[in-house]
Amino acid sequence: MHFLPVFLDLRSGTVALLGSGAAAVAKLRLLRSAGANVRWFSGKVDVAEEVLLASANSGRLELSFADPLQADLSEFAAVVSAAGGALDEAVAARARAGNIPVNVVDRPELSTFIVPAVVDRGEVVVAIGTGGASPVLARRLRERIEAVLPARIGELAALMNRYRARFAAMRHKSLSPRRFWERVVDGPIAAALLAGRTREAEAALARAINESALPQKREHGTVHLVGAGPGDPDLLTLRALQALQGADIVFYDELVTAGILDRARRDAERVFVGKRRGEPGIGQDEINRRLVEAARSGRNVVRLKGGDPFIFGRGGEELEHLRKANIPVVVVPGITAALGCAAEAGLPLTYRNEASRLVFVTAHRANEAAATDWSTLVDPQTTVVFYMGLAAAANVRDGLISAGRNPKTPAGVLARGTHPDSKTVVGALEDLPALAREAGEGPALLVIGDVVALSDAWREAGRDHDIARELAA
Ligand code: SAH
Repeated sequence: MHFLPVFLDLRSGTVALLGSGAAAVAKLRLLRSAGANVRWFSGKVDVAEEVLLASANSGRLELSFADPLQADLSEFAAVVSAAGGALDEAVAARARAGNIPVNVVDRPELSTFIVPAVVDRGEVVVAIGTGGASPVLARRLRERIEAVLPARIGELAALMNRYRARFAAMRHKSLSPRRFWERVVDGPIAAALLAGRTREAEAALARAINESALPQKREHGTVHLVGAGPGDPDLLTLRALQALQGADIVFYDELVTAGILDRARRDAERVFVGKRRGEPGIGQDEINRRLVEAARSGRNVVRLKGGDPFIFGRGGEELEHLRKANIPVVVVPGITAALGCAAEAGLPLTYRNEASRLVFVTAHRANEAAATDWSTLVDPQTTVVFYMGLAAAANVRDGLISAGRNPKTPAGVLARGTHPDSKTVVGALEDLPALAREAGEGPALLVIGDVVALSDAWREAGRDHDIARELAA
């Protein structure tokens, strides 16, 4: 380690900033966001107003048109130079001579301090340095950390800060502060706050502090009801990833791919609770029971479901059950199959006025024709997406056509969407069963509507482009 990372309070004293290019403006923004007073030797008059106002936390900004080499550097807390060339070298030499910390952008050899890449979440700040070797590498690392660090982590720090004194005043000898705050950070209070339920989290913290004088009853873990998306691990939401990385145990379905499970914390227990082909699953009641049991044992539970937990995923039932059992629950949305598959297939599900309505239907019970009211699905401006419809393709075709939908309506079968072996087959509604056979194994969606003619597969098949042309006109 060549440079010691420190966090500097720049709200007193003034920083001298040299240069007028993009690098200087970026440093100005950073300094201003830390509330620093800045004297900017910009050497330029036409500074855009938004730059001057940019992310001003507090702190003064003075523009100076004087020669920085004539300035008395001893009045500055630090010097940051992005002037380039000889001016950088000269000002760095003067700063060093006066023992004023100096940073020259992209010139670590001239600098006595370097400015790290910063992940800024309020009070929580992560600084990444590469000893000046590669700002690009530092920025890439920063992006990765941005992804795993919850957006509200700074709010969590601020909340704990507000209650620190109160805890110190109340605390019981048998409960160490460290254990208490660990419980806050690892338990349902932090989970609620990070999910945006600020008031609930604050009330729970106040309660926990009041109760900390009493003997502790074992605290329930939180269940995160997480949508895993359609299959590609990169389509997980950031919050889903964070939940997976905080999980002690993960209950997952058959739709969850191995690549997604890999993103869970390495030593999290993984429990399959889905249905394997030809075998009955363990059943919803048993899943509910196990979720409650795991949470009651104090573990952080992730219930991982394909797509979105509330779209044909029985997430609603699990939520209700957990609520009744008084288990804290956080629902994390996922990209539902229709959205993931449509994006991959280049198939816009709505289109200006021509496709103005979108319906998700489960075709699970299409065999019982009475269960589906086909008449609501025949309007030519409606795009209909059938989930669980692969085996019911003939019923879907018959139901729609006999209710009045045009047999020539473009239709597609989107199989194993976003998986490495995904396949899209397109044609006319009247040929839907053949398309389904050609698409092969599930999971698959049936999509019916003119917009199917805009998909990549339709273009590649060189089918008649009338509808596509009409829609795009
Ligand atoms: N909650 C899930 C849906 C569960 S129902 C979601 O929001 O996506 C299961 C059905 O979803 C499957 O029968 C299939 O129709 C659809 N499905 C799930 N993943 C899919 C994928 N990768 N490609 C195509 N269809 C998929």
